[in-house]
Amino acid sequence: MKILVPVKRVVDYNVKVRVKPDNSGVDIANVKMSMNPFCEIAIEEAVRLREKGAATEVVAVSAGVLQCQETLRNAMAIGADRAILIETDVELQPLAVAKLLKAIVDKEQPGLVILGKQAIDDDANQTGQMLAALLGWGQATFASKVEVNGNTATVTREVDGGLETISLKLPAIITTDLRLNEPRYATLPNIMKAKKKQLDNVKPAELGVDVTPRLTTLKVEEPPKRQGGVKVADVAALIDKLKNEAKVI
Ligand code: AMP
Repeated sequence: MKILVPVKRVVDYNVKVRVKPDNSGVDIANVKMSMNPFCEIAIEEAVRLREKGAATEVVAVSAGVLQCQETLRNAMAIGADRAILIETDVELQPLAVAKLLKAIVDKEQPGLVILGKQAIDDDANQTGQMLAALLGWGQATFASKVEVNGNTATVTREVDGGLETISLKLPAIITTDLRLNEPRYATLPNIMKAKKKQLDNVKPAELGVDVTPRLTTLKVEEPPKRQGGVKVADVAALIDKLKNEAKVI
């Protein structure tokens, strides 16, 4: 069985982004970019399934600018066997990504697609669900444990009330939560090996997908600055502030 893992190149989680002066978005010029952390967990899980013998090949795929090649090389250094770049300069929204991924799934015929539950740049949490809908496949989102046995995946999901375990018929979609695994570090020999692995390049038009954005961003704002705290003299003063200033009681 082949596993397809979509990986997104995003602003590194350690970077504090700045909103552009015209509030049209965030400034990502000269900012460090990395693989979305949830996608790293997805690659790690797919590689572990291959190492256990539940899968035969792991294919990483990324949609975006040419520099996404670095993200794909990183995925191959973690252990993906080969990679596909869907190259475009258009800013992609989740529906466009899901359509592109459906075209790749139609071609590659994987038994499982493991995505991150969300990309930390736009926090959309939509692509996996949209892909499942476009394919008509079952889905297990927010996975914290995955087991594959023949034609079935058993997935434990983190839900509000605790853990839910569901069984899925393959082919299926899984999206990863934070506690699914701890991705391994790419070692230097594996980084070197990854440079020689196959990396194909396709364009959205070759896949017959129109990636024109459907949504317009109206405004992006910084979160409000936190005000400094004060010490109150007694409980009565605290209650007065909670009632009249914070208006929470
Ligand atoms: P989102 O729905 O944007 O929060 O992203 C959820 C997941 O979809 C990510 O963790 C990736 O696995 C996948 N994904 C989103 N955008 C892309 C992209 N441009 N290229 C490859 N995978 C993507």
